[in-house]
Amino acid sequence: MIIIKNDEELVCMRQAGRIVAIILEILTKEIKPGMETGELDAIAARELERRGAKSSFKGYHGFPANLCVSVNDEVVHGIPGKRVLREGDIVSLDFGAIFEGLQADAAVTVGVGEVSPAAKRLMATTKGALEAGISAARAGARLGNISAAIQHYVESRGYSVVREYTGHGIGREMHEEPQIPNFGLSGQGPVLKKGMTLALEPMVNIGDWRTRVSDNHWTVLTADGSLSAHFEHTIAITDGEAEVLTKEVYA
Ligand code: MG
Repeated sequence: MIIIKNDEELVCMRQAGRIVAIILEILTKEIKPGMETGELDAIAARELERRGAKSSFKGYHGFPANLCVSVNDEVVHGIPGKRVLREGDIVSLDFGAIFEGLQADAAVTVGVGEVSPAAKRLMATTKGALEAGISAARAGARLGNISAAIQHYVESRGYSVVREYTGHGIGREMHEEPQIPNFGLSGQGPVLKKGMTLALEPMVNIGDWRTRVSDNHWTVLTADGSLSAHFEHTIAITDGEAEVLTKEVYA
């Protein structure tokens, strides 16, 4: 069942979204060659505590960290730890926060130092795909319009969308109905209604869309070893343009 949020819930989700956006901005500024990915987890923990919020991810089905850090051919669910970031890597940070029982979830992929033109184009395309999905998300439209907009944006640029992992409804739970695939057909699926809150999250591969899970049972990698990028926002459906709850808010 799709849950419509009331105004009070939306207020808390805006605050959760603001916390997620601010902390992601702090993390992206800290990333540099030579850093261990576990240092990012420590920063996320410190900044959450400072704001009276909790990680959506830590303990979720046993996930051991405050955020996911996925490098190069890692798609999602990378566990921060001893891995050292190198110049030219691309790093996906996926991060969710709970504030007053309400959640927001967002992701960004950033380069470590100077990255290749191919990596830059992949990141720009994935960000563009998220924006295309958000543009299609409004009351009265069908969920499939979002999926189709993302798929078309990505595939028309020669890349593929990951199919085994999807966007999702979000609110009191990190994962609520509906699932939001990054591929599909316009005009299909449930009708979007004002007050629905959704996390849209295209995961885009330079090569094939297929993935595999590493021996740690968490980290998802591209099956063919190609680079992957991930962008995500939590949005609220309105009668007009969707409200982006995890938008950058810093000066
Ligand atoms: Mg998500």
